[in-house]
Amino acid sequence: MENTRILPYILSIRCAEKPKRELKMFETTIAGSLPRPDWLAEPETLKGGWKLSGEELEQGKRRACKEWIRHQEDIGINILTDGEVFRTHFVHSFLEKIEGIDQDKKTLMGIRDNRYNLEVPTVTGPVSRPAPVFLDDFKYTRSLTDKQLKITLPGPMTICDTIADAHYGSRPEMAMAFAEILNQEAKDLEAAGADVVQFDEPAFNVFMDDVCEWGIDTLNRSLEGLQCTKAVHICYGYGIEENNRWKETLGNEWRQYDAIFPSLNKSHVDQVSLECASSHVPLSVMRHLSDKQLMVGCIAVTADRVETPEEVAATIKEAMNYVDPEQILPCTNCGMTPISYDIALAKLKSLTAGAELARQAL
Ligand code: ZN
Repeated sequence: MENTRILPYILSIRCAEKPKRELKMFETTIAGSLPRPDWLAEPETLKGGWKLSGEELEQGKRRACKEWIRHQEDIGINILTDGEVFRTHFVHSFLEKIEGIDQDKKTLMGIRDNRYNLEVPTVTGPVSRPAPVFLDDFKYTRSLTDKQLKITLPGPMTICDTIADAHYGSRPEMAMAFAEILNQEAKDLEAAGADVVQFDEPAFNVFMDDVCEWGIDTLNRSLEGLQCTKAVHICYGYGIEENNRWKETLGNEWRQYDAIFPSLNKSHVDQVSLECASSHVPLSVMRHLSDKQLMVGCIAVTADRVETPEEVAATIKEAMNYVDPEQILPCTNCGMTPISYDIALAKLKSLTAGAELARQAL
């Protein structure tokens, strides 16, 4: 298990006569996105339109990013993100800069196994990346903090389930072509100082057979050669009514992770996310990930209430029934874009306070 940051520290604590109180256990992180401030974009929706334009918009995104970096530092989050405030959509904002896609040729497509239909751009030729996509924004974010920084990218399988294909004729083949592009992007971001590169693969708990047949291969291709920490975020989806209706059909126990975690445990990723807060995921599925670190979702993406630190600590404690404490990174269930700025702030505070309670209880 690759655990270069935590294990040496634990060993030093075990060996020292007077152990330091400041345990680096339960490093906190977030899935990725954070709410865009209401002066920048329409709040509390997934695809809230920008309220600024031109140079004002670019400066506004940077200001929003800087504010979220400061908030995360002040709250004590250990692995920060840019809040994805530079993007409008976790897949399409990346694809807009990729060649081989006709953005104007819209195709009606059933997304996530026909959970909902969308008009999406169409791949009409071999895909390529003429220039880095997120690099400039990432370099700016990197300049704002010395803390560990994570950058998120869409995963190849989820890209293929979010864009129409009129060229490859084979989803695994198209996914591998995107994986090569993602790998180029990830390497550029790593060279610019990314501590964690995370691939978002919500399609992984929809097409479980495909994950095992080719999804893991394309994910591995995306992260090939990276020396930084490599993460994958899989979730049940938020922010749109179709996801809520789908989740109502899944019964009392959400078992999708059971089908894919054994294969993921053999993959080259270091960290895997799962939803634990207010979900129907049985935490025993963690047993499949004995070789990985787990981003344990202790915060739900719901605005109706803020988890207490005690609830966060209880989720961490329950996770410790199945994995070792040094495998656990307390995290949010998913991106926080759909909820209000103030509630997201309060939830992040509970996340770090809960992790601290869990450290003290060890
Ligand atoms: Zn998610």
